[in-house]
Amino acid sequence: MNYKKKIFHVENISTEKLSKKFQTPLYCYSYLKLKKNITNFKKYFNKIDPLICFSVKSNSNIKILKEIKKFGLGADVVSQGEMMKALKAGIEAKKIVYSGVGKTYSELKYAINKNILLINVESKSELLAVEKIAKLKNKKVDIGIRLNPNINPKTLKQISTGRYGDKFGLEKDEFLNLVKYSKISKFLKLKCLSVHIGSQILNHKPYEKMLKVINNIINETNHKFKFVDLGGGMGVPYEKKNKKFNFKAFNSLIKSFLKKHNVKIIFEPGRSIIANTGILLSKVIYIKKNKFKNFIILDAAMNDFMRTALYGANHNIIPSIRKKKIIKKKFEFVGPVCESTDKFLTVNKFQLIKEKDIVIICDVGAYGMSLASNYNVRPFPIEILVKNSKVQIIKSRQKLSDII
Ligand SMILES: *Cc1c(COP(=O)(O)O)cnc(C)c1O
Repeated sequence: MNYKKKIFHVENISTEKLSKKFQTPLYCYSYLKLKKNITNFKKYFNKIDPLICFSVKSNSNIKILKEIKKFGLGADVVSQGEMMKALKAGIEAKKIVYSGVGKTYSELKYAINKNILLINVESKSELLAVEKIAKLKNKKVDIGIRLNPNINPKTLKQISTGRYGDKFGLEKDEFLNLVKYSKISKFLKLKCLSVHIGSQILNHKPYEKMLKVINNIINETNHKFKFVDLGGGMGVPYEKKNKKFNFKAFNSLIKSFLKKHNVKIIFEPGRSIIANTGILLSKVIYIKKNKFKNFIILDAAMNDFMRTALYGANHNIIPSIRKKKIIKKKFEFVGPVCESTDKFLTVNKFQLIKEKDIVIICDVGAYGMSLASNYNVRPFPIEILVKNSKVQIIKSRQKLSDII
């Protein structure tokens, strides 16, 4: 994805063409970028040979899941709905792990019937529910237990999940109790220790601490785990000032961990696989100027892309056609939704911009469409996948008549 002669292109097709043909707001993904991300991820960890379970909550478009499946990835799911989608996309049950603090009894029953790889339990009550279902079915169910390693991942507080104040996982003592309990249970087979300390983590140091904690706890349990599930969370550079995540350093930390523990590593990456594969094309409806700012009112809003309103996340906005003339003034890119948090970006200068121009919100492949809603009774946008010069509609634009 780049400019060719001043016009932005996704692979071989210009965003001007795409926005005319499919209208806006428009989610557009690049197949080549997805392929590259997956190939790179595998390459970083090729000596470890991990099981890579794509985090479905980051992007649950079934056509995307089908592409991901073709590269041999499994899935990390957090609801029955996500599990059903992963299975429908052809992902083998034995490559599906199930996370989440509030899996209901019927969701657990569904997962157990499907014989998925692991149910990663996050509380004593959940463990007992799994055991009860297993007993009724008279079978032994494979589980992991999610540890809360009490580590600050140094990311946005809204997406930190591994400190004792967070609802996720189990603190050390309770973790050890549940290990003891599962070891003697006739209906549970404890196979995995799992963790996931947060998302958009750009520094590998928190992972280093996490591996130390895991090392100590495994030694304390004296249990032979078959898997260690390290979760996801590897960050991507959304802003120029962001450093790239150091996969090499993370890989060598894991390699030395594996010298002490002979386990299979599981990863649950979402963002690092899918974030930079997607852009959101949007048309300028109006430009409203006051003394302080130029408000660029877009046809995309927080219901289409929520990360900015939800976490204060920063996503770059670039023009579909590059122009030389730069205007020095505050520009605020906002959506039409009736909320003051419905804004995407404020900058101190931007190129000359007019009503009906197309702009591009960058890196929206993860937690973009999967967080979209019908707020303000706005229909879901269309999603397309570009492969060289071919375009596939992977989800049609929702019709207003379907939501009225
Ligand atoms: C959200 C989530 C992930 C994926 O996180 P990314 O930051 O997108 O890599 C992985 N595991 C669990 C349990 C999650 O909740």
